[in-house]
Amino acid sequence: SLSDRLTATFKNLRGKGRLTEADIDGTAREIRRALLDADVAVPVVREFIARVKARALGSEVAEALNPGQQVVKIVNEELVGILGGQTRELQFAKQPPTIIMLAGLQGAGKTTLAGKLAYRLKNQGHTPLLVACDLQRPNAVNQLQVGGRRAGVPVYAPHPGVSSEEETPTGDPVGVARDGVAEAGEKLHDVVIIDTAGRLGVDSELMQQAADIKAAVGAHEVLFVIDAMIGQDAVTTAQAFNEGVDFTGVVLSKLDGDARGGAALSVASVTGKPVMYASTGEGLKDFEVFHPDRMARRILDMGDVLSLIEQAEASWDKAEAAKMAQKFAGREDFTLEDFLAQMQQLKKMGSMKKLLGMMPGAQGMREQLDQFDESSIGRVEAIIYSMTPHERVAPKIINGSRRARIARGSGVHVSEVNQLLERFTQAQKMMKKMAGGGGMPQMPGGGG
Ligand code: GDP
Ligand code: MG
Repeated sequence: SLSDRLTATFKNLRGKGRLTEADIDGTAREIRRALLDADVAVPVVREFIARVKARALGSEVAEALNPGQQVVKIVNEELVGILGGQTRELQFAKQPPTIIMLAGLQGAGKTTLAGKLAYRLKNQGHTPLLVACDLQRPNAVNQLQVGGRRAGVPVYAPHPGVSSEEETPTGDPVGVARDGVAEAGEKLHDVVIIDTAGRLGVDSELMQQAADIKAAVGAHEVLFVIDAMIGQDAVTTAQAFNEGVDFTGVVLSKLDGDARGGAALSVASVTGKPVMYASTGEGLKDFEVFHPDRMARRILDMGDVLSLIEQAEASWDKAEAAKMAQKFAGREDFTLEDFLAQMQQLKKMGSMKKLLGMMPGAQGMREQLDQFDESSIGRVEAIIYSMTPHERVAPKIINGSRRARIARGSGVHVSEVNQLLERFTQAQKMMKKMAGGGGMPQMPGGGG
């Protein structure tokens, strides 16, 4: 799946000190495959990858403390950027009423959205009026009336008496829109929400009708409603509506399904218009303001990766890190005494897990780190102090009987001594790796 792939990709990158062009190509391939799996449109994926690659090869990555994290950060930033950066809310007209029109294919979720939006605006203290301009589909007017009743918002319709499910209202949708807006003016509604007809596919007559309604009433906001599950068709549909009605914002519907949000990226990318809301169910309240950063997270399912980004962004002193790295590096003769000294220093510097987790090359210790409890440093000290000086510099000699003696001397269970030695062995490997120059970027040559 998407998240599995990216998690694997990022895991590979995480431990890297310096990224080669081949690394970046490999990562780009994974991201490409992942985005295609999420149904992001092909041309959108291509452009996205090109941008990420260009940045990944640039200096911001080369100079980063941890280039892998920097690439992750770039991917996230680019996603958020395409999705519209900041959250955008409706803009209200200086001179009420504010006219909001909904457009989109049949079944996209316009009429459902109309009720939700009316409900939300009403709760915010507005006095919306719903206007039923879908005169094509049987029951469309009735459906809006039901939604309006539920939301407690009045509906302007051509035939107020329409109630038969079979009846298709007749009339001119442009005229109805105009009359609805006039009614809003008279009755002092400050917002008008116009529901329009949709077709099953992009259709020039339909597009013309939407454009005519928009022009006739001077809509302030035209919200393009699109089903998040639409997949690769998102691009052509969005382009057609963008050219046909030049919408001002996008609403992604049916995000409660297993759509991964690829459509959001496709639509925002090809139209440059912001995604403003997300519909997440059939109920009036299943509706939320769209947050580009959260969607980026959903697309990448980045949970763990995000915390790495936060760490990378946290006020982490590069110089301090380099100093510590310098001490760590080049120690082929790394002993338990060094291990103890380092742990004591890390304890002073802050969270051991966090610091070690940020160090390239330390990722091999991840599991141990996750289990690491800072309060256990005291016991580690006791164990190491119970060793003879010779044992501390030559841990290989610590056999079973020595382990038992050390455990007795430090008042811990033998398994704890074993664990410590295990952890030490891992750390020793890590030091060797660093001494070989593979781990740590920007290290002054020579080492310790
Ligand atoms: P319209 O043709 O664009 O007006 O679309 P409708 O509002 O009539 O919605 C079409 C169908 O999708 C209806 O059955 C709605 O109940 C359903 N629907 C709309 N929005 C959502 C949503 O966010 N989640 C889910 N699960 N269903 C939705
Ligand atoms: Mg409808």
